[in-house]
Amino acid sequence: MKLNTAAMRYLSNDDFRVLTATEMGSKNHEIVPTTLIVQIAGLRGGAGVGNCISELAKANLIARVKNAKYDGYRLTYGGYDYLAIKAFSNRRTVYSVGNQIGVGKESDIVVVANEKGRKCVLKIHRLGRISFRSVKNNRDYLRNRQSASWMYLSRLAAQKEFAFMKALYENGFPVPEPIDYSRHCIIMSLIPGFPMRQLSSHEDPSALYSSLMSFIVRLANHGLIHCDFNEFNVMILDEPKSEDEQFVVIDFPQCVSLDHVDAERYFKRDVDCIRRFFEKKLGYVSEDYPIFQRDAKRVASLDIDVQASGFSKKMVKEFEKAISESREKGEDATDHEEIGEEHNCDEEDEEEGGEEGDEEDYKGENEEGIIDRDDDRRLGTRDYEEPPVTTAVQ
Ligand code: ADP
Ligand code: MG
Repeated sequence: MKLNTAAMRYLSNDDFRVLTATEMGSKNHEIVPTTLIVQIAGLRGGAGVGNCISELAKANLIARVKNAKYDGYRLTYGGYDYLAIKAFSNRRTVYSVGNQIGVGKESDIVVVANEKGRKCVLKIHRLGRISFRSVKNNRDYLRNRQSASWMYLSRLAAQKEFAFMKALYENGFPVPEPIDYSRHCIIMSLIPGFPMRQLSSHEDPSALYSSLMSFIVRLANHGLIHCDFNEFNVMILDEPKSEDEQFVVIDFPQCVSLDHVDAERYFKRDVDCIRRFFEKKLGYVSEDYPIFQRDAKRVASLDIDVQASGFSKKMVKEFEKAISESREKGEDATDHEEIGEEHNCDEEDEEEGGEEGDEEDYKGENEEGIIDRDDDRRLGTRDYEEPPVTTAVQ
């Protein structure tokens, strides 16, 4: 799903209050009863709230859900996006929203700018979204999952990524500068470069290879393993600072501690991804590569620092469990659409055939945005508009 900023220009303060009330209500209610929304919003005059609700539903920021016991609304991804961007806007980290530069299975990447015109990257985490295909194949999918879990999971992913990026940035690792986060979104510096995947030749592959391997080892020495270290998540700088500073590493939600039970396997997988890329794309093979038992020696504990900074062990566990469950269920569900190309390092690199037809995300809503919970059928989907090229948020 793409970010839609159209509604941001015309929603009133009262609309925003009602949207916030729906978000607050969804902490304890999968479907927030209309009466609760009215109560939390605290607006005088029921009719006013009713108007706000219909405005918000029309803008797809909330969706009506018919339940056996009561009628209510749930926040949509659009509504959640809106709340996050509004928070950034209030904190002056985002002033305008520009082009989408990447869309993956689990994130959307959008260029934004602050008031001073500094361009940054907004990464919107979208975990737990399901495709039409997986729903067709697994009718119990909706029944088994709490509708609020996508919000929770996506928020955890953003929180985790921000915490890791901050720890790495502060310790001098070549990662984007983490700027702000809210809910399922993070703002980071825009890296002037391109994913390593686009490299078809390099004047000194051995130097690049060595500094990438050094990164993996240094990260492990600091107590962390990236777990998705591959040519999609290494950005080659347009203007390298030096031989050792020609790339920036992105995409941290899968990062694990060196103490993880599978640490050795993940470490090897990261190393192998780089070796494979260099062999296939750059024709460079080296017998010199890091080995976990020999090279991963802890000298610092960023894994512990990150826990201390608020991403607790419990959150790590919950997140890992939820991610593996969600991946098991939805693995075959969506393939990455190509804007900022996507990947799976374990898979063969060959061009994929592309999924015909059913790529669209399941939104579980019919034309009026109504979900019939008793029925649990897919009633239809709604297209999201292309985001405008540049929209002032304020
Ligand atoms: P995903 O989790 O969907 O893989 P990534 O964080 O890897 O998301 O971002 C997807 C793509 O977006 C990257 O491959 C890259 O092309 C682009 N991208 C992400 N972050 C930045 C950034 N800070 N600067 C420039 N491009 C970025
Ligand atoms: Mg990535």
